Amino acid sequence: MIKNQLNEILAQISQAEKRYARLPREVLLLAVSKTKPAQAIAEAYQAGQRHFGENYCQEALSKQKELGAYDITWHFIGPIQSNKTKLIANHFSWVHSVDSFKIAKRLSDQRASILPPLNICLQVNISGEHTKSGIKLAELAELSQSIASLPNIILRGVMAVPEPELDFEKQRQPFRILHQAVAELNNSALDTYSFGMSADLDAAIAEGATIVRIGSALFGSR
Ligand SMILES: *Cc1c(COP(=O)(O)O)cnc(C)c1O
Repeated sequence: MIKNQLNEILAQISQAEKRYARLPREVLLLAVSKTKPAQAIAEAYQAGQRHFGENYCQEALSKQKELGAYDITWHFIGPIQSNKTKLIANHFSWVHSVDSFKIAKRLSDQRASILPPLNICLQVNISGEHTKSGIKLAELAELSQSIASLPNIILRGVMAVPEPELDFEKQRQPFRILHQAVAELNNSALDTYSFGMSADLDAAIAEGATIVRIGSALFGSR
């Protein structure tokens, strides 16, 4: 049952907050509902969940339509194609997967100015060559500066999707490196670390995650 899974994950998050000296309720659970039906989202919503993450624009829009009456905060976390930026800019409150100035500028230009600024995170590739999405760590400082001038988006922080690792210490390492790099930017507007999925949730919280993105542990395998 989704409700039981949800409560288990929330308990795991609060245990990790305690164990790693984080503040209570400092870590937000983002329920990743890609490929799952609107009914599954409704179930989680009824159990109290409010933030949902989607990877595919069309799929997300059709679920948003079905769930129009629900007070949900939608996060886009998937790869962003240029021809989808207008829809993404206007149908989500958060975008975690921004990986270029060009995409950031399109999101800002296309976000309706009557809406509050779109919250964005830069996706940073901290595990090297294997995954192609995300900027290099060396690009973070300059890109975060150039994005700061865009009016309809607000840079909130970073997202990381490290290579899968079974060893806990190895899971922690890329999060620690990225957390340190963001701290060194000395920009108090950067308060968001979108770190951690079902398999590396504890390591992410140990290294400063403020949003964990959980799919399979909540909704079952895809
Ligand atoms: C699918 C996905 C998740 C959720 O992954 P699980 O392993 O199912 O928890 C988190 N973040 C991103 C970017 C994803 O694409």
